[in-house]
Amino acid sequence: MTRRRRLYEGKAKILFEGPEPGTIVQYFKDDATAFNNQKKGTITGKGVINNRISEYLMMRLAEIGIPTHFIRRLNMREQLVREVEIIPLEVVVRNVAAGSLATRFGIAEGTALPRSVVEFYYKNDGLNDPMVSEEHITAFGWASPQDIDDIMALALRVNDFLVGLFLGIGIKLIDFKIEFGRLYEEDMMRIVLADEISPDSCRLWDAKTNEKMDKDRFRRDMGKVEEAYQEVARRLGILLEGGPGDVRGPTAVQ
Ligand code: ADP
Ligand code: MG
Repeated sequence: MTRRRRLYEGKAKILFEGPEPGTIVQYFKDDATAFNNQKKGTITGKGVINNRISEYLMMRLAEIGIPTHFIRRLNMREQLVREVEIIPLEVVVRNVAAGSLATRFGIAEGTALPRSVVEFYYKNDGLNDPMVSEEHITAFGWASPQDIDDIMALALRVNDFLVGLFLGIGIKLIDFKIEFGRLYEEDMMRIVLADEISPDSCRLWDAKTNEKMDKDRFRRDMGKVEEAYQEVARRLGILLEGGPGDVRGPTAVQ
């Protein structure tokens, strides 16, 4: 066994150098953080489930023509992706008021928004991921006006598709955060969907009961966090019979 080069360890994932140039391996951890690292914990089996859910959603999105970094899942906790130059923006799409939008504008959580709203946050933990306008993004050179147009169009297509997909399994997609990256191929640059889409990065409410099925259960100490993540996977039809094999077992990372 050769030792892989660890490129980066984040809050939820570890990135390793991939087997071929231009690829990286995303290892999904069980670590959970909230409120910019002020709250830390683990959600047993989360890494296994998020690896699966993100694989599934990225593959479905690719089928409708959304370019993504995803190549293939390698094992329970790892997936091979194309290495991209991450655009330092957290792109949030909201359909229903919740979280910081509900707080900032004094709108009751659960209120449907008049239309889907896209927001940008500067991805910088040291600064608490401040919200930014397109003016800031272009002035500081994080993305060009054309990049922003592409990102907005992609984010809204992702939203339209995911809203329908989740509604089909009795789940309301309240909001979600995605990241994009630049992929260079010869003299061309493409913006592709990167990072992950999972209950860590989405607000998902049961369509009938409005019960939360996402990381808000961890943020707000609501309990049944693992169960909620598993239920999302189960409804997506991607949990193996008897549950994910190594959920409670030890995990080997090189
Ligand atoms: P963070 O704590 O920064 O959110 P994570 O634990 O989520 O980190 O680990 C994933 C990191 O890898 C993120 O910083 C994300 O921007 C980055 N990333 C995601 N997909 C890619 C990719 N395809 N190429 C390079 N970096 C990526
Ligand atoms: Mg992250």
